[in-house]
Amino acid sequence: MALVNENYLKLQSNYLFSDIAKKVNSFKLTHPKEAIIRMGIGDVTQPLVPAVLEAMHKAVDEMGTKEGFHGYGPEQGYPFLVDAIIKNDYAARGIGIDAGEVFVSDGAKSDTGNIGDILRQGNSVGVTDPVYPVYIDTNVMAGRAGALENGKWSDIVYIPCTAENGFVPDIPLRRIDILYLCYPNNPTGTTLTHQELEKWVNYALANDVLIMYDSAYEAYIRDPDVPHSIYEIKRAKKVAIEFRSFSKTAGFTGVRCAYAVVPKELNGFTLNGEKVSLNKLWNRRHTTKFNGTSYITQRGAEAVYSPEGKEQVKATIDYYMINAKILKDGLQSCGMTVYGGDNAPYLWIKTPKGVTSWKFFDTLLYEANIVGTPGVGFGPSGEGYLRLTAFGDREETIEAVERIKKM
Ligand code: PLP
Repeated sequence: MALVNENYLKLQSNYLFSDIAKKVNSFKLTHPKEAIIRMGIGDVTQPLVPAVLEAMHKAVDEMGTKEGFHGYGPEQGYPFLVDAIIKNDYAARGIGIDAGEVFVSDGAKSDTGNIGDILRQGNSVGVTDPVYPVYIDTNVMAGRAGALENGKWSDIVYIPCTAENGFVPDIPLRRIDILYLCYPNNPTGTTLTHQELEKWVNYALANDVLIMYDSAYEAYIRDPDVPHSIYEIKRAKKVAIEFRSFSKTAGFTGVRCAYAVVPKELNGFTLNGEKVSLNKLWNRRHTTKFNGTSYITQRGAEAVYSPEGKEQVKATIDYYMINAKILKDGLQSCGMTVYGGDNAPYLWIKTPKGVTSWKFFDTLLYEANIVGTPGVGFGPSGEGYLRLTAFGDREETIEAVERIKKM
């Protein structure tokens, strides 16, 4: 008899996007003629840039020749991509990263979800609240979350990020072993300054906390005081793993390529207090359970760093950030309170006084035919907010603002 991992059973009632889909489907049944604008799920809409396409076409052609065929590649990624990552994402910012510290993968979702494999079940986990749900759900699966009580998992430490604290998390009173930070933040679209992030690195250093730093939206940063990498903070390599993705940087949500940096000087501990290299453990996990991102994909990702690739990708990101500005300016001009959108493709909208996230979601859907994401779906501190994304087409973004103005 195969016994199941019963932790999975705890998750069933907790799936935000299927709840949204159900509501949208029932709206469509009763309003078949209305044109819906989807600003809910955070997928991109603009096509891959020409430099990436060209590189991938070339790689496909290579694969059709005896000399250019590539079978299994190095699980950690081809040196051509790892070198491009180190040179452009780190060395260019004065950060030294060794080739053995970079692990190319098929996505930051997989990486942030799988990283828990190398950590003991009994660790206590802290998350900023609201939060990208993957950090919580994967810890529920691993048995680290306890029981769900009033919308919170009993063994997870929730660190509120709301307008009241300027979306800057405070150090928690309860001890945590693992902390997830995501900046620029999904869902709030807010960021931390260098000094604010330094506070967390110092806290982690003083308390032996492991930071999982997800910077999937790094490419959207405009403000020079916002760090692009946690390793811009001194000694952060001793406490942090960093996750990056080509999904939002270069439209790879359907292509799939990302990477994790696991520094060699970063240690975990055995119960007896002996140090263990997390780099070695992750390498073992990665090479055992993952067989590498495809050659064609990695050639595409490499092209993101070519001079043309950089320019083209920047143009797409600028396109989304102009959408963000149009949305933010438009909503503010109707008297709405809007956060984010300056260094991130997400806008975090305060619902009108006394209106819940789900009620506001319904109002937007029924009165403006716009689909957002109710803030409470990202955690208890998301109640009273709604997330809109700037990943849509320009025309739809302008149309969405017009519809909201008429509401
Ligand atoms: N991390 C955050 C914070 C995200 O918002 C997302 C996607 O929405 C991901 C990771 C997933 O990225 P990927 O497409 O690389 O799996």
